[in-house]
Amino acid sequence: MKVIKNVAQMQKIASSHLKSGDEIGLVPTMGALHEGHISLISQSEKNNDITIVSIFVNPIQFGPNEDYLKYPRPILKDIEICRKNHVDYIFMPLVENMFPANYETFIEVKTLQDILCGLFRTNHFAGVATVVAKLFNISCAERAYFGIKDFQQLKIIEKLIKDLNFRTKIVPCSIVRERSGLAISSRNSYLSVEEKNISGNIYKILKEAAEDFKTKDLNVVKRDAVNKFKKIPVSKIDYTEIVNFYDLSPADKNTKKAVFTVAVWIGKTRLIDNTVMTKQSKL
Ligand code: AMP
Repeated sequence: MKVIKNVAQMQKIASSHLKSGDEIGLVPTMGALHEGHISLISQSEKNNDITIVSIFVNPIQFGPNEDYLKYPRPILKDIEICRKNHVDYIFMPLVENMFPANYETFIEVKTLQDILCGLFRTNHFAGVATVVAKLFNISCAERAYFGIKDFQQLKIIEKLIKDLNFRTKIVPCSIVRERSGLAISSRNSYLSVEEKNISGNIYKILKEAAEDFKTKDLNVVKRDAVNKFKKIPVSKIDYTEIVNFYDLSPADKNTKKAVFTVAVWIGKTRLIDNTVMTKQSKL
């Protein structure tokens, strides 16, 4: 396994693999690797000759009052996890190499970037789309692995690929959860033991809502879920929305496949989660 810190060097290595016929899988991460990331790495290894894991806490996707500086960066542990999981290259660029002082190009995916999390995190998805586009070009990836946990991000990247004709194909990967149901996240390290216990309820509520969605009216499903969230108790609800699975537009009574997506604050930590919901088919 090689750790590459330089953008030009990574691109040169990746293009030479491409030329010799290797298929490259890219797993973009911000580090503090956990079982969720490892599941993406394992999938990439199954489908590709070479796996590149990028570890980059991307400054341009954080707002001024967000956790960019305190985001966990356990570099040595991350390198060890990648080594154990047979990663070929870790790409770990410096901020000034990815975004030098004269950097000026940003990608916006209109409509999708301005809803749900985009309403609370201005410029977040432009930051994500921009860094991901750069990573696609640097890594020459045939496939890139993204978690369904960040469902809106996944949809935005899919649209970016379609609109800008990137050759990279996206492989969506299921959400890895703790035994309590809490979706594993690098930010879970901010939670106290008590907050972690509370957080386990998020998925419980989502699962119950998915069950209700099969047969009940949409507004009832949403109202019941919101009441349950208020009882857990969460500190603040950014949003709890049932949206169309395919384009994230608001679901209505005719929607057959939806996603219940939520962003809630437990103490001072913002957690996102979602579950796919389908209507019961009529016999
Ligand atoms: P992050 O390092 O949080 O930016 O995440 C990097 C990638 O890992 C993203 O595609 C995430 O959706 C994915 N990911 C994060 N947590 C999980 C999880 N619990 N299960 C599956 N994928 C995840």
